[in-house]
Amino acid sequence: MQRITILGATGSIGVSTLDVIARHPDRYSVYALTAHSRVEELAAQCIQFRPARAVVGSAAGAEQLAALLRAAGCRTEVEWGEAALCAVSAAADTDAVMAAIVGAAGLAPTLAAARAGKKVMLANKEALVMSGQLFMDAVAASGAVLLPIDSEHNAIFQCLPQHYGRAPAAAGVTKVLLTASGGPFLKRDVATLENVTPDEACKHPKWVMGRKISVDSATMMNKGLEVIEAHWLFGASAEQIEVVIHPQSVVHSMVSYNDGSVLAELGNPDMRTPIAHALAYPERIASGVAQLDLTQVGTLQFEKPDFARFPCLALAFDALRAGGTAPALLNAANEVAVQAFLDERIGFRRIDRVIAQVMDELPHGAASSIEAVMAQDALARSAAERIISG
Ligand code: NAD
Ligand code: MG
Repeated sequence: MQRITILGATGSIGVSTLDVIARHPDRYSVYALTAHSRVEELAAQCIQFRPARAVVGSAAGAEQLAALLRAAGCRTEVEWGEAALCAVSAAADTDAVMAAIVGAAGLAPTLAAARAGKKVMLANKEALVMSGQLFMDAVAASGAVLLPIDSEHNAIFQCLPQHYGRAPAAAGVTKVLLTASGGPFLKRDVATLENVTPDEACKHPKWVMGRKISVDSATMMNKGLEVIEAHWLFGASAEQIEVVIHPQSVVHSMVSYNDGSVLAELGNPDMRTPIAHALAYPERIASGVAQLDLTQVGTLQFEKPDFARFPCLALAFDALRAGGTAPALLNAANEVAVQAFLDERIGFRRIDRVIAQVMDELPHGAASSIEAVMAQDALARSAAERIISG
């Protein structure tokens, strides 16, 4: 029996994780569930899955959750705040942590799970983008098992040899090929992008996801963050990572080998597949996802990305090449700009300009400690905020 903590249980990934867990009550129990503000949804999850602990974002939220659980006769212990998130990630009574908080807020608890040597199922790509070297060092030092949930990275993981040592050349790997759907604006006239609404940007053609990652998919910053994520997970340099537009989202990513072979993982676009893969690894379990019928799909298309249409992709490659805290600056500026777009404070085309200006203004430094990374994160957030309000 694996005891699971889900950070971000009320989000898109959290809900899909509980869906897979509910199909296998003989294999998995829920140790802790966390949510930021959707207290009623978290209460319903606690009543169904009976975790030992639940964590919310505020004291008021904790009071409300405790009252809801008491009324339902549910004995889950309720806590709140970042220290509690870290505690349920590192607790001796949990075996595996699904890191599915969105954004930088997930860094501390995800890192706590890595330091405690847990099986870390990583959806929260922003945590790895911000603190890549520190995070991978923590995994190596504790012996944590890191399994990617992002569909592209999960696909690449499945296409790599079993004992891959984060050294592409040694394994005969020439490239990792990250597929990208291109999002809702792949073919839209660029001149009309200034006026797109948050709802249009969040209407992803293939995947149903949280709003932040949906906007990231529309700008292709999501793919940019994934390029950096692939660098840390697989030890691939910027030159060894290629982005390929694939509108059908059936090929989830590929690995090229020096003998001419290209291995791909295919499936219907449903996050329950990588979630089930990571939960059961190295075994396989049913996920609830329908079998892929390639005769129904018919055609698979691939094309090169247009960096002029998607400047965020170029900004992310630049940040990866710059190294140090540059990816943390990029990530923080992006989080602020995306939120400002969702709040209708800036237009869609200003997202990349805000990030570029922050990257121009702020010198990056060495990512020598989590404190150094968080200090750069804070600087980038205030610079982005100033640019947006100015
Ligand atoms: P979401 O917005 O649906 O859910 C986010 C979760 O994080 C919620 O449970 C929320 O309560 C919690 N949260 C938000 N802010 C928080 C804070 N400040 N402190 C603590 N908890 C907080 O997001 P999602 O789509 O499920 O994405 C989660 C992560 O997984 C992101 O990093 C995203 O990039 C990654 N991811 C998602 C998908 C997908 O299909 N949704 C695919 C690949 C990767
Ligand atoms: Mg992805």
